[in-house]
Amino acid sequence: MTLSKVFDAAVIGGGILGCSTALNLALGGMRVAVVERLGLGMGASSVNGGTLAMQTKTVAMIPYHLRSLELWRTAGDWLGSDVGFRAPGSMVTAFTDAEAEMQESRMAARRAAGAPIEFVDLKRARQIEPGLTEKAKLVSHCPVDGYASPPVIAKAYRGALVREGVAVREGTAVTGIDRDGDGFSIRLGGQRLAARRVVLAGGAWLKGMAGWLGVELPVGVLVNLLAITERTRPVMRTVASVANGLLTLKQYENGTVLIGGGWIGRGNLHDGGVEIMTDQLVANVRLARHVIPGLAIARVARGWLGLNCHVPDWKPVIGPLSGLPGAFIIGCCRSGFTGGPLLGRLLAQEMLDGKPEMSLKPFDPARFTEAPSLSAAS
Ligand SMILES: Cc1cc2nc3c(=O)[nH]c(=O)nc-3n(C[C@H](O)[C@H](O)[C@H](O)COP(=O)(O)OP(=O)(O)OC[C@H]3O[C@@H](n4cnc5c(N)ncnc54)[C@H](O)[C@@H]3O)c2cc1C
Repeated sequence: MTLSKVFDAAVIGGGILGCSTALNLALGGMRVAVVERLGLGMGASSVNGGTLAMQTKTVAMIPYHLRSLELWRTAGDWLGSDVGFRAPGSMVTAFTDAEAEMQESRMAARRAAGAPIEFVDLKRARQIEPGLTEKAKLVSHCPVDGYASPPVIAKAYRGALVREGVAVREGTAVTGIDRDGDGFSIRLGGQRLAARRVVLAGGAWLKGMAGWLGVELPVGVLVNLLAITERTRPVMRTVASVANGLLTLKQYENGTVLIGGGWIGRGNLHDGGVEIMTDQLVANVRLARHVIPGLAIARVARGWLGLNCHVPDWKPVIGPLSGLPGAFIIGCCRSGFTGGPLLGRLLAQEMLDGKPEMSLKPFDPARFTEAPSLSAAS
């Protein structure tokens, strides 16, 4: 059975990138549906670290993340609900000469790309972050960095989407997409949904989704680890990281400290993140305690895993799918939580009038995809 309404756009996947695209399409006047297999934000977008830090971003993405950070700053207004945005700044620490050398060149490149990163001596660093170890060899500081709260983001986007008239279908898995005249017929189990345009926004499941349209996309999946402590007395103020990037931590106002930075667990696309690897968790927490010694009093309350995805050049994949008029894709953003508010907006602008406020060329899916034959769509 095909649902009677024909949407201007159907977004498949209700993570931050799908929600952000859908919201901006609706604000631009399109009739939009979001179809989500579980609930909005129940993929990576609700279980991530929430870190919004220029000091840990790739150079090519800095202009985009800086702009997205501006959107995060006002997200409470345009989403209509608090998203826990805080900007206490970030500190990155090197402990050896080799790390210091790496940090100097990496931060110089990020600074040249627009991130307001400065090197500070240890005395100044410990004024900004009193919890920081005295063993630091080199410390850089970025005052605009911060975090938002992933667990509340889905609720905030749901409210905004519904207010803008977007049809939100949760608990509904898309199982395939067929061409239907100039548009698409989207399979939802026994039902079908008709839309003139389709946006694939399936996070780690993007490879399978692209496959529905005959597009081969080289998506890799990482199972990333996070841990949170019990409530403890204040031990730090900023977002802390290390020169090699394998740490981010921050303390929330309720006293808990979130520890992450790209350590891994076991899992797969079918089951999700299923097994924490103790050696990874212990190493992650030890590193956190090395940087913020006051953490020695804190006990880890819980650890969890989430699926993150990427393509070989580690840049996002955003834009039209060549050879498939009306089909678009957004995903594989390594820091998609930071970039989400902007990147979804750019794709919506591309779809609405072909004039995104920042170029989407670096993210063109065509760099990986060959034009598929329309008959391959099934
Ligand atoms: C542990 C971890 C920590 C991270 N920390 C940070 C961080 O601190 N800062 C940062 O900027 N980024 C971070 N990230 C990255 C960030 O979370 C992701 O880049 C971002 O959330 C991706 O959003 P998305 O919308 O593409 O994917 P997702 O949020 O995964 O959304 C995809 C959605 O598609 C749905 N879906 C899949 N298949 C179907 C189907 N057949 N039909 C319908 N729906 C379907 C899924 O259920 C899911 O909800 C982290 C990621 C992880 C895993």
